Amino acid sequence: MSGIVLILDAQTTRRIRLQAQVKTVCDTVALVETGTDALAQIRKTAPDVVIVAHDLPELKLNRFCKALRANPQTQLTTIIVAVPSENHSARVSALIAGAHDLIEYTAEPAELRARLRNVMRSRQMTEQTRVRAPVEHAGGFAEAPSGFAHRIVAQIVSAGESERAEALRDALPASAGLVLHAADERDIRRDPGSETDVYILLEASRPAEARDLLGALRSHPGSCHSRILFVSDAAPHMASPLDLGAHDHVPCTASPAELALRIRRLARLKQNADRERESLNALGEKAYTDRLTGLNNRGYADEYLQRADRSLAEHPAPLAILLADVDHFKKINDNHGHEAGDRILAHIAGVLKANLRGGDTLARYGGEEFLIVLPNVGAAQARCIAERLRKAVSAGPAALEDGTLMRATISIGIALTGKSERKSTADLRRAADTALYRAKGLGRNRIEQATPADFIAPRSSGRLTPHRRTG
Ligand code: GH3
Ligand code: MG
Ligand code: MG
Repeated sequence: MSGIVLILDAQTTRRIRLQAQVKTVCDTVALVETGTDALAQIRKTAPDVVIVAHDLPELKLNRFCKALRANPQTQLTTIIVAVPSENHSARVSALIAGAHDLIEYTAEPAELRARLRNVMRSRQMTEQTRVRAPVEHAGGFAEAPSGFAHRIVAQIVSAGESERAEALRDALPASAGLVLHAADERDIRRDPGSETDVYILLEASRPAEARDLLGALRSHPGSCHSRILFVSDAAPHMASPLDLGAHDHVPCTASPAELALRIRRLARLKQNADRERESLNALGEKAYTDRLTGLNNRGYADEYLQRADRSLAEHPAPLAILLADVDHFKKINDNHGHEAGDRILAHIAGVLKANLRGGDTLARYGGEEFLIVLPNVGAAQARCIAERLRKAVSAGPAALEDGTLMRATISIGIALTGKSERKSTADLRRAADTALYRAKGLGRNRIEQATPADFIAPRSSGRLTPHRRTG
């Protein structure tokens, strides 16, 4: 594994033993004895991970963590404190001071390897998200800077032994905003729900079942975004839970105070990731939505058509593309004003939407032009749907702001491809445009289907209506 690890420990034998273990995982390992040496070394080369002895004389861990956080080059460096598992107060203090994780000097090499791999994985993910927005460090235990307390829902599940889950729930310190449940393993397997921020999975005496439950939770759509803290009883011969998808892993000897800190940290990471996902989704939705009509915009339609091409190449199937254009729309604008025109466009969009099925795609493709894609539809059905749309638009007048009812009509061009044909969506769109042009020429408020000739010599684009940018 690539990565630079710095070991900071005053005791030579411990330092060298740890170095030998870390060397089996990471290419570059540096050793230092004091905090001052560590900071000097860090200034030269920023490490990915610093492993700090918990009992280093004269090292104020919280100041050391803050110094690393304040430096842009080490902002994402993971700080791991080496501390014996039985020293509960030192473990909790290290986490509160700013450590991201803890290891034991006597840890199994496989466990140490898994922990370092986990650190590197979450670091890579943080770096990827940092490209989009500045983020709080992935692992810190300090409270969120906003100070805004979110409710945390955590479920404790024990593989087979539900009384262990209940005992842990009762032992964990009560804390504001933290809702703890002891859940039944079968219920969780059946329906994990999507409310849970953190699962605390107790291995108990069933390591195989616990690992299976871990896999089930990671893959279920309801729980795949939740964080999982795996509490093991010691099954060193088995794959580390961290390599199987757990986000954190502690021995069952960890104190309730340490567990509570880890649960809070995992919940914070999960809630940050949820927010990030939501804002990306909202951004994506905004970029693909036409503001006036609320329909998909041209950008969406073009991407959809490209995807449809790839899918048709793999699985040929019938497809119809319809282009609908409002008749004499310029006159509507001229006679009633641009705002009235906007109202009518939004009204027509609603009528078209209401008359299509779930699997069909509708987009505002230009100023007063709509693109409709009907998958798995033959010529007769496509004509029937087009006719339904045409009639619905001409039958339903739009109410203008002053209450005047305004009737508009549309013309539609249809182009089709069958299962044994290989027409691209670009060809279909051009042929539909040519058919639409013919419908206009033949009197408007009508439907024309593209002929084979329309595919060979489509009308050159841009003659019918100058497209306005939408979105
Ligand atoms: P045809 O029946 O041949 O399609 O005639 P038309 O008047 O509909 O076509 P033309 O291309 O001459 O005019 C289209 C008009 O649509 C011109 C443009 O100002 C108007 N338009 C385009 N986008 C919008 C919009 O977002 N809002 C409004 N109100 N008008 C728009
Ligand atoms: Mg028009
Ligand atoms: Mg037009």
